[in-house]
Amino acid sequence: MKIFNTLSRKKEEFVPLTPGQVKMYVCGPTVYNLIHIGNARPMIVFDTVRRYFEYKGYDVQYVSNFTDVDDKIIKKAIEEGVNADTVSRRYIEECKKDMAAMNVKTATVHPQATQEISGMLDMIQTLIDNGHAYVAADGTVYFRTSSFKEYGKLSHKNLEDLQSGFREIKVTGEEGKEDPSDFVLWKPKKEGEPYWESPWCDGRPGWHIECSVMSKRYLGEQIDIHAGGEDLIFPHHENEIAQSECANGRSFATYWMHNAFLNIDNRKMSKSLGNFFTVREISEKYDLQVLRFFMLSAHYRSPLNFSAELMEASKNGLDRILTCVGKLKDLEANASEGAAVGEEEAGLGEAAKLKRKFEAAMEDDFNTADAVSAVFELVKLANSTADETSAKSYVVSLKATIQELCDVLGIITEKQAEVLDGDVEEMIAARQQARKDKNFALADEIRGKLLDMGIVLEDTREGVKWKRV
Ligand code: AMP
Ligand code: ZN
Repeated sequence: MKIFNTLSRKKEEFVPLTPGQVKMYVCGPTVYNLIHIGNARPMIVFDTVRRYFEYKGYDVQYVSNFTDVDDKIIKKAIEEGVNADTVSRRYIEECKKDMAAMNVKTATVHPQATQEISGMLDMIQTLIDNGHAYVAADGTVYFRTSSFKEYGKLSHKNLEDLQSGFREIKVTGEEGKEDPSDFVLWKPKKEGEPYWESPWCDGRPGWHIECSVMSKRYLGEQIDIHAGGEDLIFPHHENEIAQSECANGRSFATYWMHNAFLNIDNRKMSKSLGNFFTVREISEKYDLQVLRFFMLSAHYRSPLNFSAELMEASKNGLDRILTCVGKLKDLEANASEGAAVGEEEAGLGEAAKLKRKFEAAMEDDFNTADAVSAVFELVKLANSTADETSAKSYVVSLKATIQELCDVLGIITEKQAEVLDGDVEEMIAARQQARKDKNFALADEIRGKLLDMGIVLEDTREGVKWKRV
């Protein structure tokens, strides 16, 4: 399996640290608003990467964080006259609903920055102790980039160029920096902002430290894949590498994967430009499967332009697959028992070839565009060869192949058996019990399972309420 590694700028053969296992960390959203469909691109892309590894039989540990302390969250909280916590909790819930509706699997762990402060204090202290960080007069702690000879290796930037580039920029409040390219690990509190005590000053973490700490806590010092959108290469991922490798004394992630942007009118979709659609807005017009299918119709490293025409084309393409599966299902119900013969044997051979084509596309740096084409070819094969005279085994086999491959893409082809109210109530009761027992990990796991089944929970004053998404 080949993966394009931003570190080497080459496709490399995937070799896991531990045979049969994949440890991956995907940088998640900052939660101060509903997510937009640009944010959804890495969610869908890396969920598909995860699904393909699982299809290949790997045990995947998938961690994706929520950044829940940040200037934008604090600003929103001040505007609304509530705590930052209230804002982030609300948008984490909303984000989880969107992920479930896009059939993005719940991560093994979804850590939150504010719950991991003590780990951050430990790592920052280690970096100070070994000379990779220093404390300025106002209590700000900076990472000393010149202490890490490999700084710039991910973004392929040269530290000297960076230093001269930054020299012109004087940032107020950062006068204590030894060098303009140094970055903040911990900063003093400002009036009205959330803060935590630390040996250096009451304050809060810089943005980058959280991912180094959460990745280490939940996956260990070394991981296989670290991923996110390409805007994270510099400075975020470059700084994560510096922090993790200097604190742990070993290399951090083997493969760095970055998705290209989702654009609109050929400009990056972003909150700050205001040129975005939220996932929620799209869900009013389309089943979010269409959005997922649209995202996967392009290779993840190619820019993708969002347009109504392309969404319509995706809707039609997806309908073609779903209609075909529906037809095969009807044929299966009415077909006579019997083994495939003659032409059908050839059809099965063709289907097996197309399945290999799908796999080859996925193994070539997750080329979902080509993988989707292989599914369309299967649909064409089914439409032209399966009919009322077909043997049941032939119909069943074609349907199973299409569904298996769609499942890797996270496309649901058949309505899952209705989740019974009684089962949901039972799981909610088990979650309540776990919470009573202070087994929050189990409680979260149950909530995650329910989300994967399309059930969203809301903890209200009157108790737990639930609904289907
Ligand atoms: P943020 O909340 O801005 O930190 O973004 C969360 C994730 O979404 C990161 O991995 C970003 O790189 C990614 N992202 C944000 N905007 C886009 C976009 N227009 N296209 C693709 N990925 C994006
Ligand atoms: Zn991160």
